[in-house]
Amino acid sequence: MKPIQKIAIIPGDGIGQEVVPAALRVLDHLEAKHGLSIERETFDLGAERYLRDGTTMPAELMERFREEFGAIFLGALGDPRVPSNVHAKDILLGSRFQLDLFINLRPIKLLDSRYCPLKDKGPEDIDIMVFRENTEGLYTGIGGQFKRDTPDEVAIEAEMNTRKGVERIIRAAFAYADSAGKSSVCMSDKANAMRHGHDLWQRTFKEVAAEYPHIRAWHLYVDVLCMELVRVPERFEVIVTNNLFGDIVTDLGAQLQGGIGLAASGNIHPGRVSLFEPVHGSAPDIAGQGIANPLATVLSLGMMLEHLGYPELHGQLKDAVSHCLTHGHVTRELGGSMTTDAVTDAVIAFLS
Ligand code: ATP
Repeated sequence: MKPIQKIAIIPGDGIGQEVVPAALRVLDHLEAKHGLSIERETFDLGAERYLRDGTTMPAELMERFREEFGAIFLGALGDPRVPSNVHAKDILLGSRFQLDLFINLRPIKLLDSRYCPLKDKGPEDIDIMVFRENTEGLYTGIGGQFKRDTPDEVAIEAEMNTRKGVERIIRAAFAYADSAGKSSVCMSDKANAMRHGHDLWQRTFKEVAAEYPHIRAWHLYVDVLCMELVRVPERFEVIVTNNLFGDIVTDLGAQLQGGIGLAASGNIHPGRVSLFEPVHGSAPDIAGQGIANPLATVLSLGMMLEHLGYPELHGQLKDAVSHCLTHGHVTRELGGSMTTDAVTDAVIAFLS
């Protein structure tokens, strides 16, 4: 059975207000062409709303997301007028934690070699799926400050690793590798320095890997992973790691695939409402100019459609983005001169 065919749309802040409508134009086209009907409801959440009435994320909305929607489509959150970023924290981290979106899935796929900063690397060399743990690690806010603003100040940020949390993300990585015909899974941690939490990762990884004897399970400390990703990205098929390391490593990966304007992501709990968003932020420096690259959001739309039961449409969107890159239908940050709308038109023209 397909998930609920209804999506919640949160354009959010800055360029989110431009790239989400662009991707929804692509969705309009796909729906008309394939006779689909995915119900949509748009939510006025983000910095404007917070500044207007203090609302960040209404508690009852989380319940509605859980019950009534198959997916959430988010643009970006972040606004210089809200330096605390409290709205972004409540909406994005709130969704990740309260909806238990434990998989942060971030594909690193080079679609055209001319956008890769590494020399002599092509699309066949960079095709990696990163499984970033998304509900624990260093991002739970556990810790505190003591004697703040004094010379004796102490600040503690605790990393939480649970057996359940570590096991389910490792299992998700192996299950994906198995079903996608990948031959290896690399787990990355810093167990040589972080002896408690990351020892749990080591032991759990070995146990789960034993259930998949046909998949090569290997390990790199995260510092070595960063070096190897740049030196020999073709070594990697699937990477599984914790929340903080996944955050950092996938930004590195975004550059390998051509920049932050092309990086898509899903915050997923299989079989439940899940959230899809481009990796980039609200980019206040270019917001309102109509020059934001919509392709990361188009690829995120593809991941969402796959989650909703249409993997073939995800494939079509990847082909469309590939076509735009190959033919130079790109925005300024990729060396082109096209607007957000013009690139979106090129995507739609390819799909027609
Ligand atoms: P935050 O995540 O706090 O909202 P931000 O928006 O400053 O941060 P990023 O979104 O990571 O940070 O972007 C960094 C820079 O990359 C932006 O300032 C912008 O110049 C560029 N950038 C990001 N996304 C895009 C995009 N879709 N198209 C073109 N340029 C982009």
